[in-house]
Amino acid sequence: MSDWVLGIDLGTTNSVVAVADGGQVRVLADAEGKRLLPSVVSFHPTAGVLVGELARERRLMDARNTVYSVKRLIGRPFASPEVERARGRFAFDLTEGRDGVVMAKVRKGLFTLPEISAFVLREVRNIAEAALGEPCTRAVITVPASFDELQRSATKAAGRIAGLEVLRILNEPTAAALAYGCGTSRPERVAVYDLGGGTFDLSVLEIDGDVVEVVSTAGDSFLGGDDIDVSVAEAMADVFLRAHRWDAREDMQAFERLRAAGEWVKCQLSTLETVDATVSELTYGDGGRALDLVFRMTRPELEARIRSLLARSFDVCAEAMREAAIEPGDVDSVVLVGGSTRIPLARRMVRDFFGKEPRAEIDPDLVVAQGAAIQAHALSGRQSAPKSLAKIGAPKRRKDSTRQFKLHRAAALEGRPEQVAFAPARPAPLARSPKVRPPRASTAPPALPNLPAPSTPPLSFLVPLVLDRPPSSRPPPEEGAWGPSSAPPPMAPASEPPLELDASDVLEVGEPSTGAPGAQAEPERDSVVIDAAYAASLEPGRLLRYVAEDSEPSIVIDGIEPPSGSEELDGLEPPPSGSSAPAAPAPERAQPVLALAAKQLPLLMDVTPRTLAIETAGGYCRAIVRRNAPIPAEQTRRFTTAQDGQRAVHVRICQGEGPRFAENQLLGEVVLDGLPSRSRGEVSIDVAFLVDADGTLDVRAVDVATGRAQAIRIRLQGGLSDAEIAQMAARQREVLGEGV
Ligand code: AMP
Repeated sequence: MSDWVLGIDLGTTNSVVAVADGGQVRVLADAEGKRLLPSVVSFHPTAGVLVGELARERRLMDARNTVYSVKRLIGRPFASPEVERARGRFAFDLTEGRDGVVMAKVRKGLFTLPEISAFVLREVRNIAEAALGEPCTRAVITVPASFDELQRSATKAAGRIAGLEVLRILNEPTAAALAYGCGTSRPERVAVYDLGGGTFDLSVLEIDGDVVEVVSTAGDSFLGGDDIDVSVAEAMADVFLRAHRWDAREDMQAFERLRAAGEWVKCQLSTLETVDATVSELTYGDGGRALDLVFRMTRPELEARIRSLLARSFDVCAEAMREAAIEPGDVDSVVLVGGSTRIPLARRMVRDFFGKEPRAEIDPDLVVAQGAAIQAHALSGRQSAPKSLAKIGAPKRRKDSTRQFKLHRAAALEGRPEQVAFAPARPAPLARSPKVRPPRASTAPPALPNLPAPSTPPLSFLVPLVLDRPPSSRPPPEEGAWGPSSAPPPMAPASEPPLELDASDVLEVGEPSTGAPGAQAEPERDSVVIDAAYAASLEPGRLLRYVAEDSEPSIVIDGIEPPSGSEELDGLEPPPSGSSAPAAPAPERAQPVLALAAKQLPLLMDVTPRTLAIETAGGYCRAIVRRNAPIPAEQTRRFTTAQDGQRAVHVRICQGEGPRFAENQLLGEVVLDGLPSRSRGEVSIDVAFLVDADGTLDVRAVDVATGRAQAIRIRLQGGLSDAEIAQMAARQREVLGEGV
C-alpha cells in the first residue's frame, strides 16, 4: 500500500482527483492529459462498462444504458420526490430495489447508485495510480454540505466498493475554502457559491486561522448547468419544429443530441457574444432526406432564457443568509465553485447579490479536489516522520492571542434529560422543557448520567475545535418547531471571574483570558478554564467535545515548502487579460492553496445538515442533535416507557425539520428489548446519538437501570452492510473483467 491519500471531488457532472505533496497540490490527469472525468457510466453491448468521456459520448447513442447525474439521487429513497422527479427526466430507467433503494436498470442488470458511483471512483483510482505509479487505496471524498447521513454513507459505500478506504467525507465548500487559504491572514466569513452541472449549493463558512466552521448551508439538487443545457436544447427544438414540423422532444435520442449541442453553445457563450451551431441529420424528411438543425444564439438571448433559472440560486442564498442570521453584505469573500460559475451572468448576479466581486482565481472545476487533496495530505501520515510527529504532538500555544481552543460539551450545561415517552403509546405529555443548568462556579464534576466522563487527553494531543455561534446570533426558533425551547441561560456579568470546571465539564482548553481575575496561568491537564460570559453564551443542547487522537495529523502539514510561483499550482486560472473586474486588494487575501499548505492545516469543523430526531408518542419527533450542530457531535437524551409492562422499545430515527415524524426522512431503527416489566414511566432509556467527523450517525440505546445496552439493532435504510459492499465490489470487478 502506498501512503498517498487521494483527494477526490466526486461531482455530479465531472470528477477530479488531486494529491498534495512537496508543497504542491497536483490535479492528476489521465493518459490524454484530461483532468475532468465525466461522472458517466455506460453499459456497452460488447465492450463492457465504459466510464468518463467514452461513456459521455455513448449517452448520445445509447441513452437508456448510460447513467449520469447519480449524485443527485445517491442515498435518497426511491419514494423521495427527488427520485420521482429524476425518473421523469432521465433517459435511463430507475427502479425500486430492496428496502426502497434506487436501482439503475441497464443492459447488464440492476445496479445500486453507490455501485454506479463506484465505477467512476474506480476509474478515478486508475487515473491516480497511473499518474503516481503506485497503488492508491485511501481517499478523502467530497460531498455537498447539504448531504444528509444517508447520502454521505452511500458515498462512502461507493468508495469502498471501488476498493478505497474513505478516510474522510469532506464538505465541498470547506474543501474550496481550504484551497483558497481563506481565513489564514484574518478571520473571514466566506460564502461558497457552487453551481455545478446538476446541483446548486450555497454555504456560509466562518474561518479563523486553524478553524473552519460551516455556519449554514442550503441547496437545490435540481439546479445547475444541465438545466441550462435543456433550456438551450428546447430553443433548438423550437427552431427545428418551426422549420420542419418535427418535434425533437418526442425522440429521446434526437433530444439528447440537442442537449449536448446546447451545452456546447452555452459554454461558448461564456466567452463569445454569438454562436452558430449545426446539428446534422437530426432526423430524416421526405424520401429519407437528412434534415439538419441550423441554430444561432447570442449571449443576451441565452441570458434572457436563463435569468430566472439563475435567480432561483439566490432564493437559496437568501435561505442560507437567514439560517446564518446575516445579510449578504456581512460576507467578507465569495468563492465560486462549479463549472457553471463561468457563465458571465451568474458572476454578475453573484456580485450584485453579495455586493462584492467573487473570487475565481482557481479553476472552479478543480478547486474542490485541490482542497480535498490538502486535507487528504494531512490525513495521509506522509508527514509522520518522528520530527513531524513531534510537531503534531505539540501544537503551539498562541502567546500573543486571546484565542482559545474550545471544547464542547453541552451535557455539562444541561439539566436532567426530560422524560418523554416512546412511541407506541397513548399520547404522552410532549416536550417538557429541559431544565437548563446555568454555568456553575464550582470545581465539582457535574452529574452526567448519560455520557461517560471523557478521559482527559494530554493537552499536547488536543486538536482545536471551533465554537458554534453564540445563541445571540442565532435566529429565533421557528414557529411550531419541535423540541424544547432552548433559551440560553442568563448572561453572566462580564466582570465575573472565570469559572473553573472539572474535566468532565470540558468546555475549552487554552490560555485563560489574560488579566482575568482568578484565571489560571496555565490550565491543568485535568481541568479547564472558561470565562463566565462564554459559558453563559453556550446554547444548551449543543454538544461541545474534543478530538484527542494522537494519530490525528490534521493540524500540521509538514514538509511543505511553498513553490516559487503561484503559476506552478494546478488549476489556477490567470486573471483574464483586459478584464474590467476590479482587482482584489492583494495583501488582504491569502494565497490560494499555498498559504494554507505552508501553514498549519485548519481543523475542519462541519455541521449536521438536518436535525436528527427520534419518534415519540403520538407520532411526534424529539430532536437529539439539531440542524447545524457542529460535528463531531454526541448527545444523549433520556426517555421512559409509555405503557405498563412494556418489554421493548423501538427507537425510530429520522432526520428533518418537521414536527411530525412522518414528515421527516426515516433513517432507521434501534430495538431495545429485554426490559424489566414495570409500570409506565418507570423504565428509563438513554438514547445517545454520535455523529462522527464524516457526518455518519451511530445510535445507542441503554437501559439506565441495568446500565447496559441491550439488543441494539441499527438498520440504516439505504445503507449497505459490509457483506453487501464486499459482494458489490466483487461483482464490479467481475463486470470490469478484473477477476474476483
Ligand atoms: P461541475 O459539476 O462543477 O463539473 O460543472 C459542470 C457544469 O459546468 C456543466 O453543466 C458544464 O456544462 C458547465 N460548464 C463548464 N464549463 C462552462 C463554461 N465555460 N460556461 C458555462 N458552463 C460551463
